[in-house]
Amino acid sequence: MSAIDKIKELAKEKGVSFKIDPETWMEKKPKEEEKIDFFCLCGSRECVPHRKSNEIYGPGGRSWIMYYRCAGCTSHFDDPKKYSEAQRSLEKRLQEMLYVAKIV
Ligand SMILES: [Zn+2]
Repeated sequence: MSAIDKIKELAKEKGVSFKIDPETWMEKKPKEEEKIDFFCLCGSRECVPHRKSNEIYGPGGRSWIMYYRCAGCTSHFDDPKKYSEAQRSLEKRLQEMLYVAKIV
């Protein structure tokens, strides 16, 4: 039995629940995913996380977000916040270009 299993067993016995997962040292239950002010040039304001799980259902089951994709154009990205920022600045630059070109 590994040290981790011993700790888990002991915790179970004592009815202690971990805030930190002893295997990964990560918070067991990630706090409510913060609402992202998502923006994509395709017009979508929604992104969908793509998760990978350790295929354990029930206790011990965990899932990780591998990447996100835009609900509109299905672009893939790691960080919706950074993606939104980049898309916003791109939009701004496009508008400037259109203005210079006297299209708008
Ligand atoms: Zn999009």
